Amino acid sequence: METSCVFCQIIRGEKPAEIVYRDETMTAFKDIHPHAPVHLLIVPRKHIRSLNDLTEEDQGIIAGMIFKARDLAREMGISKSGYKVLLNVERGGGQVIFHLHMHLIGGW
Ligand code: 5GP
Ligand code: ZN
Repeated sequence: METSCVFCQIIRGEKPAEIVYRDETMTAFKDIHPHAPVHLLIVPRKHIRSLNDLTEEDQGIIAGMIFKARDLAREMGISKSGYKVLLNVERGGGQVIFHLHMHLIGGW
């Protein structure tokens, strides 16, 4: 856990967010500036900077996040209409929060 990391603060409950799912490995909450009717962020509890920093031992975490994106899309009613699952990696890839997260975007 990093004290200055916004997503670590949300995970610890120190910063408010609209949490839609939480378990021992990940938290999912609504993006504060949504780009679509449904825009969720799926975030591992473990502070990992970006996809570049994933290790072999994190395989279960990333797999769980993908399955959770699929399940949340279904719960939000956007499975059939379609959605995007995005990982922005480092500055050139559009990453601005350096705690690994997956965007679930859809509902158009
Ligand atoms: P990135 O560009 O790093 O992949 O995406 C970061 C996302 O986090 C952005 O879509 C941004 O709107 C969202 N975000 C940044 N700060 C906060 C916050 O404090 N709360 C919430 N819920 N979302 C945030
Ligand atoms: Zn963090």
